[in-house]
Amino acid sequence: MTEQDEMTKTGSKCPECGKPAIVKFRPFCSKRCADVDLGKWFNEEYTLPGDTEIPDDIGEGEPS
Ligand SMILES: [Zn+2]
Repeated sequence: MTEQDEMTKTGSKCPECGKPAIVKFRPFCSKRCADVDLGKWFNEEYTLPGDTEIPDDIGEGEPS
């Protein structure tokens, strides 16, 4: 096992920056790009228009 293994290219491109993706972080080229993408949908998921409050019991029970 060498660092080379982690850098193995997947043949696809990083959706974030377009660089060749590597196996370790696929489909991204690096942890940074993976984190960026994760943060994107994470923010979208929890940022609702007109409602910045995040209920603890979202989708269950009564909203307080
Ligand atoms: Zn990238």
